[in-house]
Amino acid sequence: MPRIVYSRHYNIGFYGLERLHPFDSRKYGRAWRLISRHFGSAISQLHVQPRRAASHEELTLVHSDEYLTKLRDPKYVAGALEVPPIRRLPSWAIDWHVLRPMRWATRGTILAATEALEHGFSVNLSGGYHHAKPNHGEGFSIYSDIGIAVAALRNQELIDENARVAYIDTDAHQGNGVCHTFMSDNRVFIFDIFNCRIYPIFDVDARKRVDCDVGITKSITDAEYMRELNDRLPGFLDSVGRSPIGLAIYNAGTDVFAGDPLGDLNISAATIRERDLFVVGELRKRGIPTIMVLSGGYTKQSYQLVADSVIELIEMETAMGG
Ligand SMILES: [Zn+2]
Repeated sequence: MPRIVYSRHYNIGFYGLERLHPFDSRKYGRAWRLISRHFGSAISQLHVQPRRAASHEELTLVHSDEYLTKLRDPKYVAGALEVPPIRRLPSWAIDWHVLRPMRWATRGTILAATEALEHGFSVNLSGGYHHAKPNHGEGFSIYSDIGIAVAALRNQELIDENARVAYIDTDAHQGNGVCHTFMSDNRVFIFDIFNCRIYPIFDVDARKRVDCDVGITKSITDAEYMRELNDRLPGFLDSVGRSPIGLAIYNAGTDVFAGDPLGDLNISAATIRERDLFVVGELRKRGIPTIMVLSGGYTKQSYQLVADSVIELIEMETAMGG
């Protein structure tokens, strides 16, 4: 039985400040409501709740103490979150109302990874902060939840120290923070399909780290987008090696959606659903434990796109007897 990891503590809401960034910081709660309504009483068998936020010890699996100290500076956090007015708030308020929900989501990614190992497929209804680097936050990403989750599994010996990890990123933005986090970790294999004309376009080092790099632009059609995935993803997964992949992390950003103000692509809702079913299907038919995280998505429909995909994926997984 697959698992959905969600806590109401994920949602950022602070006197309307969250509306200063196109990031719909309440999309998690909205998606959760649609998903739980769909499954009715069966949701209790699918739902797992983190009981706490990620601890300092967990954060330091990836981040330096120096960086975590920098997060006490409102000016620094305002820059990383791209919300300049935050710089005028006291440090404690930023921590409580903005960073703490992200630490809950980071804990959710760790929990979802352990659930995936046990149950095959899990979704964290948040996370995917793929621009966060070990010593730097940017692009609305403060904590490297993906790097932390992988390190936590290794630390607890839930996956073998040498197990291969596949990271598949379909968010519109290149996952530069994940690349920097795993820069010299040759056990992690990265597939990234992204808009190569937008941020973080100047992070050349990150892009060099991608094992299968699929740069796309706004003119790509739904059919061409799916063809790229069909042509490139199965070969990438087969190339990761003969030893089985210990864990796959699927970063399913919905900011590829037509009209998204940050993603600048033209992918339809139907194709996003098809993409998510294809990617997870390729992973699961190879028997790879898979976790999905949400990442970007900055339109009013984002939560609906997330809910539609998650409902279908859970039903697909349940039908497969997962
Ligand atoms: Zn994005």
